[in-house]
Amino acid sequence: MARRKKIYEGKAKILYEGPEPGTFVQYFKDDATAFNAEKMEVIDGKGVLNNRLSEFFMTGLANIGIPTHFLKRLNMREQLIRSVEIIPLEVIVRNIAAGSMAKRLGMEEGTALPRPIVEFSYKDDKLGDPLVPEEYIIALGWASQQELDDIVALALRVNDFMSGVMYGVGIQLVDFKIEFGRVWEGDFMRLILADEISPDSCRLWDMKSGRKLDKDVFRHDLGDLADAYTEVARRLGVMPTNATHAVKPTLIN
Ligand code: C5P
Repeated sequence: MARRKKIYEGKAKILYEGPEPGTFVQYFKDDATAFNAEKMEVIDGKGVLNNRLSEFFMTGLANIGIPTHFLKRLNMREQLIRSVEIIPLEVIVRNIAAGSMAKRLGMEEGTALPRPIVEFSYKDDKLGDPLVPEEYIIALGWASQQELDDIVALALRVNDFMSGVMYGVGIQLVDFKIEFGRVWEGDFMRLILADEISPDSCRLWDMKSGRKLDKDVFRHDLGDLADAYTEVARRLGVMPTNATHAVKPTLIN
């Protein structure tokens, strides 16, 4: 049997060559990593949950006119995506101070920000994804001013959509990270949302109890990670309402 070609293996996903030119298959692994892979563990079922949750968010975003790389889910762990020329930036949107922002500025985690803040990190594991000002991005040619303006506008729309969806199920969207890529249509280039949107790349706090329902559970040993992700999926109607982590993740479809 012919083996498919692996294009790239990251910490949480593998990219394979897709069935048609211009497509990839994105495989979601169960591996959880934190602190630039200093902490690693296999969390049974995480890949299944993130595949389904990323599909849910990307489909919703496409429905409000935000172009994404998502084409269709293939199975429990894989989705077909458009291949893009990835922009080497982590685009982070924050509504509430937490994580590296709270630490850097000595702010208390949970302080509401007066408005959403968009910031950029340079995608480079060896350097620990350092925060970079717009000036660097443009001067070093990672993206143009026009692209950055478009990225900020798109990121804020993603934030509005995601905040609303999460608010509807009693969850506060504290912050999240997204990535963008370029696709070429003839001579024209378009920016599209790439990578994934899942509890691996967001901070999600239960509005009533403050319980963390995201990767901070793993980062700071706060309990069962798959349980937290299952709760997010269950509230969004992505998993059966009686699902617990003891029951293996099953899809509603
Ligand atoms: O660590 P920090 O506070 O900068 O993270 C902001 C948001 O971006 C968090 O939701 C975190 O999960 C996400 N993030 C990510 N991948 C990274 C860095 C941050 O998904 N490499």
